[in-house]
Amino acid sequence: MRALQLEDFGKLVVTELPEPDPGPGEVVLDVIATGICGSDIHGFTGENGRRVPGQVMGHESVGRVRSLGHGIDATLAPIGHLATFNPVIVSALGQRVFAGREQHDPGRTVIGVSTERTSAFAQRIVVPIENVVLLPEDIPVAYGALIEPLAVGLNAVRRVQLRPGESVLVVGGGPIGQSTVLAAVHEGAAQVYVSEPNLERRALCESIGAIALNPADGPLPEQIIQRHGVLLDIAVDAVGSSASLADCLGSTAFGGRVCLVGMGSRQISVDAYRVSTEERSVVGSFCYSFDVFRAAAEWVASGEEIFGCLISAEVSLDHAQDAFQRLATKADVPGKILVRLDH
Ligand SMILES: [Zn+2]
Repeated sequence: MRALQLEDFGKLVVTELPEPDPGPGEVVLDVIATGICGSDIHGFTGENGRRVPGQVMGHESVGRVRSLGHGIDATLAPIGHLATFNPVIVSALGQRVFAGREQHDPGRTVIGVSTERTSAFAQRIVVPIENVVLLPEDIPVAYGALIEPLAVGLNAVRRVQLRPGESVLVVGGGPIGQSTVLAAVHEGAAQVYVSEPNLERRALCESIGAIALNPADGPLPEQIIQRHGVLLDIAVDAVGSSASLADCLGSTAFGGRVCLVGMGSRQISVDAYRVSTEERSVVGSFCYSFDVFRAAAEWVASGEEIFGCLISAEVSLDHAQDAFQRLATKADVPGKILVRLDH
């Protein structure tokens, strides 16, 4: 099978790898398309130290069931069925101990991150049956590759306990910010604002239901007051820097709730009185439980056309290096690029 291997930082090559065999309880999927995540870009450049040369990355994916390992009830994964997978793998013991919050298992492994696994930038991938989520045939197939990033957004708005009718600010209008906008609208937010310096990204965020603000137009809390009259209930930081977190704290009312999901900086400085004297809550969000992932899959199974706005381009495996290079060096792609593995 053909696969996209990280030969060295900054260099991906298309290589030929042996066909995988499913072990007991495992499923092989024919991969159709896999999205390029910000974490893959940082892995490609070597910035985050979470990917290593020799690895085949990829964790936002859609495919079809190709073969089943020993002991799998064939009705759970019919051959040829459209499917996605939750990339967070948790042992049977972990699934019992961390039921409902499987991502908190310190023993978890993550497809696309784990350096020992050949992940989804390959024509075939092996996943445990528990991680397979079947999809209906009547949705645009590429939407299946959006379920993972949408699950990240859905988890963020659930971690910050968004209630219907509340107002939300998302700082950062890249793919995770976009997923968070859609998730906030889906969960009943009355207004969703996005702060994003890039014009194309602002336009994309407006097309999916947000009111876009340009941080260059003035301090964000002032822009919020001008547009909204009062400060907001909730803010989600999809950047993860001292400045973005300050915008989140300053744009929410006393008692507001802030979710940190962006991972831009390892160290962040905080105006502590925004948290203590004004009684805001700050929660973190990273991935998702099995339930949240399934909820994202059910949501995408509605096939709403709005999901299509998140996809900026689809490229073949042979053009993947160029796509990674472009995402790493230029800010001219507003949404996701998907790599097609099926042609
Ligand atoms: Zn991702």
